[in-house]
Amino acid sequence: MVFAADHIQCELSAQIVQFGFQVSGEIKAQLVYECVRCLSKNPFDLTLPMKVWLTAREEISTDDQDVILFPDHQDQIDLSASIADIISLAEPMNPICEEECKGLCPQCGTNLNLTSCDCKPDEGDSPWDVLKNIKSE
Ligand SMILES: [Zn+2]
Ligand SMILES: [Zn+2]
Repeated sequence: MVFAADHIQCELSAQIVQFGFQVSGEIKAQLVYECVRCLSKNPFDLTLPMKVWLTAREEISTDDQDVILFPDHQDQIDLSASIADIISLAEPMNPICEEECKGLCPQCGTNLNLTSCDCKPDEGDSPWDVLKNIKSE
């Protein structure tokens, strides 16, 4: 997964709450994902809600990912790690360009969505088998 745009758009607003700030809003990112079957690159627009809390009180900042420690002596905070986390959670696990994607020919690498090839669909006959035989002899 790569970022298509060199910046991510965030519309966030901060609100004072009892123990610090609540930051909420939307993240908009343009990503490009690679189809796991045919390796084609596909643009992908992502809009995600974001809600985190900033607090100066260490006892509140526990294991909760949504709570970020923001000490009083600090006057700015970098949220890029949290934003990257949120985006990575939203990434498709095994993205495919479309349900019907035929993928690449395992033998010659032809993109079978675009054209066909003359390979026989016999997967036992790949060039790697030949290499294995050489090694074992
Ligand atoms: Zn594909
Ligand atoms: Zn082929």
